Amino acid sequence: MRPLTFEQGPIRPPSEAYSLLLRVTRNCPWNRCGFCHTYKGQRFQARDVEEVKQDIDTIRQIAEEIKALSWRQGQGGEVTPSLVRSFFRDPDRSWDGFRSVSLWLLNGGKNVFLQDADSLCIKTERMIEILRYLMETFPSIERVTTYARAKTISRKSVEELRALFDAGLRRIHIGLETGYDPLLQYVRKGVTAEEHVEAGRRVKASGISLSEYVILGLGGRAMWQEHATHTAKVLNAIDPDFIRVRTLKLLPGMPLFEKMEQGEFQLLTDDEVVREERLLIEGLEGIQSTFVSDHILNLLEEVEGKLPEDKAEMLAVIDRYLALPERKRENFRLGRRAGVYRVLDDLSDSERYSQVEAALNRVETTIPGGLEKALSDLTASFI
Ligand code: SF4
Repeated sequence: MRPLTFEQGPIRPPSEAYSLLLRVTRNCPWNRCGFCHTYKGQRFQARDVEEVKQDIDTIRQIAEEIKALSWRQGQGGEVTPSLVRSFFRDPDRSWDGFRSVSLWLLNGGKNVFLQDADSLCIKTERMIEILRYLMETFPSIERVTTYARAKTISRKSVEELRALFDAGLRRIHIGLETGYDPLLQYVRKGVTAEEHVEAGRRVKASGISLSEYVILGLGGRAMWQEHATHTAKVLNAIDPDFIRVRTLKLLPGMPLFEKMEQGEFQLLTDDEVVREERLLIEGLEGIQSTFVSDHILNLLEEVEGKLPEDKAEMLAVIDRYLALPERKRENFRLGRRAGVYRVLDDLSDSERYSQVEAALNRVETTIPGGLEKALSDLTASFI
């Protein structure tokens, strides 16, 4: 069988794990951020609207084929876990597009994420045409979301954003990264704190839900305090629907990695990142955002909640971690990154604790560089 194909880009936010990925542009029009290597060496391209519509048609054909197979297997046209499992075992149907659409339908066929890094940089009317076609083709869709750069949004009027909302765009994910101007310049984000505030406010005024991403650890040793306090100020000025944190991880190919290798940029330790996160949360005032820690790189996944009511609880989790004896903190760091623990309470499971302790002893005696090297290698596989 010749597979029906459509194009998908490399990344999506963690919260879009069950969304259909629809590629509207290729790569990143900016491509200069010091902490990012996703699109390095790749040229930015806006795709033709007709080409994107053809992809939507292909997705519809795949969806129809999946439903027909469901009828043939006696499942009444429903997309069930057993039907999807059967596709994964079938070499004729285990290709990416078929898997993506079947998993999307299994999860209700409700959410779509528009790729790649800055989809809104195309003309608003072109995006509206794509959104309308998508919504007409799949009436089951409830939420369409996308990444966008704050710089791009700051060039769009609230009316344009409202027109996108009316056409079906329901959430924009923006990489704030930091609210501290010298750090924004240092990492070459290409946007100022003021532009971040303006862009965020416009999105909110349009009715589109707003997620702002913050990189924990981005300030390094030199700027961690300013990073935390200024980021809190910018978030307070925006009051986004969601604040999502992700911990910095540097890999070869990222300009900031080279600076780290040269000794110019000094990474924070896990415990220092947690202190920085505390300072950030402490500074969040007068907003109703939901604080989310849904990236696997974050040490304390359970630091989550609705502001302002959960602020004290979030700070208490951090304080509880920082008050642990050093060996327990090391045990948690390794266990969390190895997938043995998720939350601090998991430390009280003596069987798992002993397992991690044995691994920690092995790491310290057999790996040159010990725990830090082992953790660095483990987290490198997370991105
Ligand atoms: S704007 Fe986003 S995708 Fe583009 S270089 Fe910066 S972090 Fe990477």
